Amino acid sequence: MKKLRIITLFSALLAVLVAAQISCNSSSSGPSETTGHGGGHWSYSGATGPEHWGDLDPQWAACKSGTNQSPVDITDPVTHASADMEFHYKASAGTVMNNGHTIVFTPTDGGYILVSGKQYNLLQFHFHTPSEHLVNGSAYRMEGHLVSQAADGNYAVVGVFYDSGNGNNVVETVFGAVSDTENHETAVTAEVDANGLLPSGMAYYRYSGSLTTPPCTEGLVWSVFETPSTAAETDIQKMENLYGGNARPAQNLNGRTINHMM
Ligand SMILES: [Zn+2]
Repeated sequence: MKKLRIITLFSALLAVLVAAQISCNSSSSGPSETTGHGGGHWSYSGATGPEHWGDLDPQWAACKSGTNQSPVDITDPVTHASADMEFHYKASAGTVMNNGHTIVFTPTDGGYILVSGKQYNLLQFHFHTPSEHLVNGSAYRMEGHLVSQAADGNYAVVGVFYDSGNGNNVVETVFGAVSDTENHETAVTAEVDANGLLPSGMAYYRYSGSLTTPPCTEGLVWSVFETPSTAAETDIQKMENLYGGNARPAQNLNGRTINHMM
């Protein structure tokens, strides 16, 4: 009888472990920065906050040991008159989700960008409050990240700063459609054109960095627009209320050069 109870207990424990493993796998099957899927296990404060990410999972070691991490504080950039980007985003339906870390929109086919002639297809875009990148030590109210991937698997991410001001149509459409329930995907039938997220000025900062969320993978081409755009105060506050701050602190440049491309 006692043995049976132990076996029952063991089975129950095993079931819990298997369930945890499944939920863990589903939440870490892809980095939230790139796929939009991310579960628990990491956060922006406390024991699972940014300073601990590298210790939470061996696959996230780059968060601690990486030397080309993002975001960074943009200071003393080197100016080049050699802008190398072309934007070929296009209007697309898609899905929006609050994945517990950010609001992320995934287009059905949102077009692509060219960086030095190399094509990176738009996977998704999402937001951070306050901005993750700093300029001379200062943050903007919000930052959008447009994540694209090339056929060889490499990523290029475009960052856009937002001040509080005139509403942004794309932000309003996406934030207006998102469910408050975490990990609940909502179809967005309206055509969402990522071009609408870009600012008017086209100069940008270029450097080599990483995903700003676990697993903090390096080798990303970062292009952060210099000129901020604007979003409605209510939309910025929606992000702040949902996440209470979802920006990783600025990381050490470790000798990297930031280029100012115009
Ligand atoms: Zn991001």
